Amino acid sequence: VKVIIAIAICKILYFIGRLVGKGSSLPGQIALKFYPEVLNRLKLPPTIIAITGSNGKTSTAETVAYALKGNGKSVGWNHEGSNQIEGAATLLLRLSSISGAIKKDAIVLECDERYATKIFKQIRPTVLAVTNLCRDQLTRNGHHEFIRDCISEAIAAAGAETKLVLNADDPYVASLVSDKTENEIIWFGVGKEVFYRTPPGEAMASKCINAAGMYDDGAFCPICKGKMTYNYRITGHFGDYMCNLCGFMRQRPSIEVTKLDYSTGDVTIIAREKPVTKHTMPPDTNHIPEETPVVAHMAHVSLTGTYNLLTTIAAVSAAGIAASDTVKTLDKYELKGGRTVRFLVGDREGMLLISKHENSLSYNQSLSWAVQQSKPCTVVILVDSISRKYFTSETSWLWDISFDILSDDKVKNIVLSGRYVSELASRFALSCIDKQKIAYVNELDKMREFVESSTIGTIYAVTCFSDKLKLQKALGILRK
Ligand SMILES: [Zn+2]
Repeated sequence: VKVIIAIAICKILYFIGRLVGKGSSLPGQIALKFYPEVLNRLKLPPTIIAITGSNGKTSTAETVAYALKGNGKSVGWNHEGSNQIEGAATLLLRLSSISGAIKKDAIVLECDERYATKIFKQIRPTVLAVTNLCRDQLTRNGHHEFIRDCISEAIAAAGAETKLVLNADDPYVASLVSDKTENEIIWFGVGKEVFYRTPPGEAMASKCINAAGMYDDGAFCPICKGKMTYNYRITGHFGDYMCNLCGFMRQRPSIEVTKLDYSTGDVTIIAREKPVTKHTMPPDTNHIPEETPVVAHMAHVSLTGTYNLLTTIAAVSAAGIAASDTVKTLDKYELKGGRTVRFLVGDREGMLLISKHENSLSYNQSLSWAVQQSKPCTVVILVDSISRKYFTSETSWLWDISFDILSDDKVKNIVLSGRYVSELASRFALSCIDKQKIAYVNELDKMREFVESSTIGTIYAVTCFSDKLKLQKALGILRK
């Protein structure tokens, strides 16, 4: 009876919430308060794909759900963005019949990286994908080694039956696996050939003598702290790494990108027949799995998007759908909450690049985007609020970003603005960017005029979600 009441409570509150436009975690929260064990009593669908990690959770959850739907599965997912236990509870209870059965083929759960354990203690995922681990939300998360430990705990809570989908290029993600790991693993990654085609900006930044603030999260082994060497790096600490002390190294991915064409958006992916894991590959055979290349067409090609695509293909393949079918479904797919918006200022083209503050790897991707285009450009950077989730005036993360990427000759002007313009100014003072190019606009309502009269080329406007509207207003590009 308690199950029925808890389900009813959730459904009613969710319905009322929809009417008044309220959030999606409260109904689950109240139902869990009433009956904490309710999720254990549900009849769950055969496929539950959980997605966690620092970057790309929301986008990947969206494409995983879309790929499953496109291949004939009925899917429920927490697209309202509530990714803690209360949000998961709201989703499952509102999808459930009053008797506790969920009549869907699959559930896709975006899971907060710190609280996944809490979710998995009640809902065991059949597939758990970890996108990546990097510096993110410093005030809340500290360092990603701490997050790695949180996810390690979550894997233990899920149990050995859960298939793991892991980023082979990220040593922190790979360090989730040890000799004791019994789970089946599907590794995904970006191959060496792609490295030579990555945006030139990052390579340039590393050549800068004054590249102050550049840290290297790939310098030391996340397991034994020995020195690591890389055959190549894709970005940040992603690449083909090996620890000189304990021998910890990149695993060969079973889903791997071998070609990335920035001009056409074509991504060539090799899907190896069987998941290559150290637990399923007998060491004494020379069996080479069959390799089938598939070509995906991305609407907006980026390294971030490529990793999200790989995670999606690998996660969906763990649920029995072939890479070629996933790629077909996701052909030129446009994300609902897309991170780029095109605009015009007069007759000049521009693009809004939504980046995550407090997340240097994501931010560097936006900066690289600007310099990888072939035309002269102006880059406008606004840092007015830091997080949309909490208040902080902590700006040390600015020193983690490789702003030196913008020392490229194509970047003709850089305009800095926002409440933290002084912090930006000190950061840029210690970059190797020609100071003549840098300008400061303190009042946002003067931005448009300044950009029109004093800058040239394509306009790349870089900011975070919470400052998006402000920057659109300042540039006079809000659609009516
Ligand atoms: Zn080591």
